[in-house]
Amino acid sequence: MIVKQIELSDFRNIENEKIEFSEGINVIYGENAQGKTNILEAIYLFARGKSFRAFKDKELVRFGSNTAYAKLSYVKKEGEGLLGVEINKNTPKRFYRNKVRVNKTSEIIGEFRAVLFCPSHLGIIKDSASVRRRFLDVAISQLRPIYIKMLAKYNSVLENRNAILKMEEEQRDNLMLDVYSEEMAYLCADIASIRNEYIKKLDYWVKIFFEEMTKGKEAPKITYEVNVGENDFEQRESLKNRYLSLLKDNIDREIKYGVTLFGIHKDDLKIELNGKDSRFYSSQGQQRSLSLAMKMAEGEISREYSGEYPVFLFDDVLSELDDSRKRYILSNIKSRQVIITGCDKGVFESTEKCNFIKIENGKRINADILENEIIGEE
Ligand code: ATP
Ligand code: MG
Repeated sequence: MIVKQIELSDFRNIENEKIEFSEGINVIYGENAQGKTNILEAIYLFARGKSFRAFKDKELVRFGSNTAYAKLSYVKKEGEGLLGVEINKNTPKRFYRNKVRVNKTSEIIGEFRAVLFCPSHLGIIKDSASVRRRFLDVAISQLRPIYIKMLAKYNSVLENRNAILKMEEEQRDNLMLDVYSEEMAYLCADIASIRNEYIKKLDYWVKIFFEEMTKGKEAPKITYEVNVGENDFEQRESLKNRYLSLLKDNIDREIKYGVTLFGIHKDDLKIELNGKDSRFYSSQGQQRSLSLAMKMAEGEISREYSGEYPVFLFDDVLSELDDSRKRYILSNIKSRQVIITGCDKGVFESTEKCNFIKIENGKRINADILENEIIGEE
């Protein structure tokens, strides 16, 4: 998958720009606060359906304007594609596919696939379980659109079930509680089975990348930490029954706390190095290697599903990695499309065939101007 061009108007600090990308490595560089991450944010919007850093869509609209637009043209093995989005301050954002409006954001997810790696992902090992669940959910959603629907349904059932658990005894509708428990148990079985399959692939690829990166001194292992423990995730009925009995056996506690204590909203990934939980025992460097290996693995799994690599978006992470990890990334990704942001051209200057894009104050400073600058200096 290749991004050809992104066109932005009134998006963050970018008034009006068209930026073209080439195959291989693209380096967006410039000083701080110029709009480099804003460009990656816009591209990733089409992979995830929402911004990776804004709380509200309206934050994406340029100060003083009412509507932001972004248009992404890309090529995948099925052919060329065009996705657009219109973000109005006062109405929900609208996505377009090949100029036709789509009804729901979830309809475009999976259409354009990208793997984002940003500084906050370096904490993926140490951060709370919700960060690892989000990693899983975002990655899986791009591959299996049905998963997004399952999650949305699950969250709504969970919310309803919790509302009943919070009620006083006289008001509580126990029949409804049973209905929600049953529904939740089925959804848990379906979601856990998909997550389990993904985690097995993740474990396989992380082992490969981590061992290559660190010359095989330590062996990583990623397993699924799930309420139902070791289980046959293929057996839907028995998995569902296992969840249902967890819910039923613990109903008194759940009523006491007014919240659902079991289910896939409690899932986590257990990440170990040489048998030790890396949350507690890994050094910073090991955690960086692991998070990097997880992102590379995400790319491989995406390729396995779709038959082609997603676009890799690296926001400012290279400056946070040491030279050997930088070299590892550069030697591994150059055959794919990567869009990297950073303050300077740095290590890339010696790398052949890079497309350099300089950003200043939300504007692309094009190659002609740069050349003139250099000629001017001479
Ligand atoms: P760094 O190197 O520090 O990561 P960057 O080039 O990645 O910088 P961005 O995060 O892309 O910077 O852009 C930040 C700039 O965008 C800031 O100057 C910020 O004030 C501006 N900005 C953010 N949201 C808006 C908005 N809605 N309208 C106008 N400008 C905005
Ligand atoms: Mg940035």
